Amino acid sequence: MTISGKATLEVTPQSLRYAKPFMPMFLKRLRAVQVGVGKSFFVGPESVSSWWSAKEHRFSDIRVLDPDPDPKFIAAILANVRASFPALADIEVDEAWGAYVDSTPDAVPVISPIEGIGGYYLAAGCSGHGFGVGPGIGFLAAELIANDKPSVDPHPYRLSRWSDGTRIEVGAL
Ligand SMILES: Cc1cc2nc3c(=O)[nH]c(=O)nc-3n(C[C@H](O)[C@H](O)[C@H](O)COP(=O)(O)OP(=O)(O)OC[C@H]3O[C@@H](n4cnc5c(N)ncnc54)[C@H](O)[C@@H]3O)c2cc1C
Repeated sequence: MTISGKATLEVTPQSLRYAKPFMPMFLKRLRAVQVGVGKSFFVGPESVSSWWSAKEHRFSDIRVLDPDPDPKFIAAILANVRASFPALADIEVDEAWGAYVDSTPDAVPVISPIEGIGGYYLAAGCSGHGFGVGPGIGFLAAELIANDKPSVDPHPYRLSRWSDGTRIEVGAL
């Protein structure tokens, strides 16, 4: 069970650093998010400690991003279920789980070779649609890596769209 259209945006040093390109996305999602500061400000890949650290494995120390679930959201989910299914009025929460949803500035994934680093390809930034579009992302990434003729135009998915002056337009959320 989950709740749709509700989330917390955790402010981190890295998110402040890159806030400008994410602003159109933030404004579009404003009603769905509450803004807060959590553990991620101090620990993990987006944190102050990581930013200034020269530690070799600082981006791989935390491999699973599972933040503590917000008790307010859990209570709201439970209230929704009890109201919608009166027969379940007595159920209790046995286990709760939280997660991060990644996002690019335009909600479109990056499926792209990285200019300047030969042989390095990026397929990431599913922006909350990775279950659905993951197979397509993998297929296009494989075609690019194998230097096959791509079955769809890879241009909209290039990484350089954020550095070549292209205007950022937020895609479907
Ligand atoms: C609550 C929730 C609901 C969602 N609902 C939907 C939905 O309804 N439909 C939809 O299409 N999408 C949905 N998504 C989004 C979807 O789950 C993601 O877009 C997708 O899983 C992203 O895939 P990924 O491979 O890019 O990243 P991930 O699935 O995050 O995979 C990254 C993997 O890399 C591993 N890893 C991390 N660091 C390292 C390291 N240093 N070395 C080796 N491995 C490492 C991680 O453990 C992880 O297994 C939802 C996401 C959440 C959190």
